[in-house]
Amino acid sequence: MGYDNDNIFAKILRGEIPNFTVYEDDETLAFMDIMPRSPGHVLVIPKTPARNMLDASAAQLAACLATVQKVARAQMQAFDADGITTQQYNEDAGGQEVFHLHYHTMPRHAGVAMGPPGNMGDMDEIAANAARIRAAL
Ligand code: AMP
Repeated sequence: MGYDNDNIFAKILRGEIPNFTVYEDDETLAFMDIMPRSPGHVLVIPKTPARNMLDASAAQLAACLATVQKVARAQMQAFDADGITTQQYNEDAGGQEVFHLHYHTMPRHAGVAMGPPGNMGDMDEIAANAARIRAAL
């Protein structure tokens, strides 16, 4: 169970497939999930290879969480959110589908359930939500 250089987030990092970036620094990239479970759903990944939390270095985890916090604060403001849900899955049995370490950060509103996984979002809406988060950052 090593790192697969052809996973979809590795391709995003190499610029081989497009993404809606909201934030990046030397260590991490934050971009919109194209199957959002709430409006403004963002993924945060390390720029260096890690399959998931189990093989990641402490430095990769720390860098990702610092970016998650930045993005979460911006999401609170951009969507006038009541809270944030952060999720992170490890291996098939843990619910992981893309095998490059990633954190989900999702704005939440009181009484509004998260949507189901696997539903492709509206790209115009995702682009507009990315712009709102970038503006708040
Ligand atoms: P999981 O590994 O279970 O956390 O699921 C992977 C997540 O990546 C899902 O929420 C997908 O919607 C998301 N995803 C898959 N492909 C892309 C992509 N090309 N751009 C943005 N998000 C993606």
